[in-house]
Amino acid sequence: MNEYAQRVLDLRRSQAPWELEYLQSVTEVFESIGSVIEADPRLERDKILERMTIPERVISFQVPWLDEKGEIQVNNGYRVQFNSALGPYKGGLRFHPSVNLSVLKFLGFEQTFKNSLTTLPMGGGKGGSDFNPRGKTDHEVMNFCNSFMRELFRHIGPDTDVPAGDIGVGAREIGYLFGQYKRLANTFNGVLTGKGLAWGGSLVRSEATGYGAIYFVQHMLAKKNQEIAGKKIALSGFGNVAWGAALKATSLGAKVITISGPDGYILDEDGLDFEKVAYMLELRSSGRDIVAPYAEKFPSGKFIAGRKPWEVPVDIAMPCAIQNELNGEDAAQLVANKVELVAEVSNMGCTPEAIHCFQGNKINFAPGKAVNAGGVATSCLEMTQNASHTYWAAEKVDARLYMIATGIHEACVRNGTEVDGYINYVAGANIAGFKRVAEAMLAQGI
Ligand code: GLU
Repeated sequence: MNEYAQRVLDLRRSQAPWELEYLQSVTEVFESIGSVIEADPRLERDKILERMTIPERVISFQVPWLDEKGEIQVNNGYRVQFNSALGPYKGGLRFHPSVNLSVLKFLGFEQTFKNSLTTLPMGGGKGGSDFNPRGKTDHEVMNFCNSFMRELFRHIGPDTDVPAGDIGVGAREIGYLFGQYKRLANTFNGVLTGKGLAWGGSLVRSEATGYGAIYFVQHMLAKKNQEIAGKKIALSGFGNVAWGAALKATSLGAKVITISGPDGYILDEDGLDFEKVAYMLELRSSGRDIVAPYAEKFPSGKFIAGRKPWEVPVDIAMPCAIQNELNGEDAAQLVANKVELVAEVSNMGCTPEAIHCFQGNKINFAPGKAVNAGGVATSCLEMTQNASHTYWAAEKVDARLYMIATGIHEACVRNGTEVDGYINYVAGANIAGFKRVAEAMLAQGI
C-alpha cells in the first residue's frame, strides 16, 4: 500500500480499532489507488484521504416505538452523511440487527465511490437501524418507521440527502417513511427513492439492482467472448436483489440453480423458472426470513440446512445477501469447482481472503460497488423524473440503466487492465470512483 494511504489507514485504525467493517472497506479502496496518489501530489497536500475517511456528518438518534402489546421498544437509528462532493447524499436505509456505526460507515464509504462510478450527480450516504423486521406485524413496522422518520425528516431533502431502501427496507417501509416525512415536512417531493409507482416511483426501480448486475455480468462475459445463455449461476439471498438478478438471468437463458436464506440454501438443478422467481416474492413477504418452504412447494428443489451455496459447481457465482457472506474457504471451493467469474452483488459480500483467492487464480472478480450500482443509478433516474414532475416509460429507464452498467464496465476495464491483460475489476472500480470524488473535493476547497 502507498505510504500516505497506509498512514491514514493506521490513524483511522488507532482511533476506532473496533470498526472492523469500516476499516476493511477503507483498506480495499486504499490498496487500489497507490498509482493515483503517486501521480498527483495535490491529494496528500490537501489531505484528501484524511477528509475522505471521516463522514461529513453522522446523525445518531433513539427510535422509541410501541409494539402490539403496547410495550415500548427502543432501537438505535442513524444516518451517515458521508461525502457530498458530487451531489446530495444518496444511499439506502438498512433495518437489520447487525446494523451499527461501523457497518453504516463502511456502506456510506462504499456508496460514495459507487455513486461516483455511475457518473450521476450523487454524493454518498447510508443509514438505518438495528431494528429487526423479522416476525413484526405491519402495524409494528409502521410504528417503527413513523418514529424513525420523526427524527430523520429534519436532516434530509431532495437536494440535501435522499435515502432509499436496502436490506429490510422495501416498498412497504418506504411507503410508511414517505407518509411520515410528508406529514412532518408538509411537502410532497422526491426525498426518498423506491417509492410506489402511483406516488412518484420509477418503473424498473425494484428490478434495477439485479438487472444492472446481470448487464454487468454480460459485459464481463463479452470480454471473454462468451454469453450468459446456458451458464449455471449460484445466487445467495432471496431478497429484492437476488429476485431481480434471477428474473433477468432466467429471461436471458441462464440457469439459476441456488438461492439462500439465513436457514440454508435451495439447490434446484432444473433452474428457476418464472413461477419459481415469482415465488421468491411470496417467501419474502412471509416475513420469516427463511427459504426452506421452497423445497416443499417445488419438488425439484432440495433444501440444504445451515450451509451456503458456494459448494455447488457453477460457472458464475453472485453473492446477493450481505457483507462478508463469501469467505476464503468458499472462494477456494468455487475455484476448485472451476467457477469462471464472480460478480459481487451485495455490498462487500466477499472477504479480502476471498477476493485475493479469486485474483490469485486469475478469475475475473467484480466488486459490489461496480456490479450493484444499477440500483442507485435508477434511484437517480427516479429523482430526475420527480424533479421534472413526470414519469418515464419502462423502456427508457431500462435503456438508461443498461447504458450506465456499460459505462461502469468500461471504466473498470480502462482503469483496471493489468499488463498480462487480466482485468482487475476491484482496482478499476476503485480508481475510477476515487478520481471523480477527489477531483471535486480538490476543486471545492475546505
Ligand atoms: N441500497 C442500495 C445500494 O446499496 C440502493 C441505494 C439507493 O438507491 O439510494 O446501493
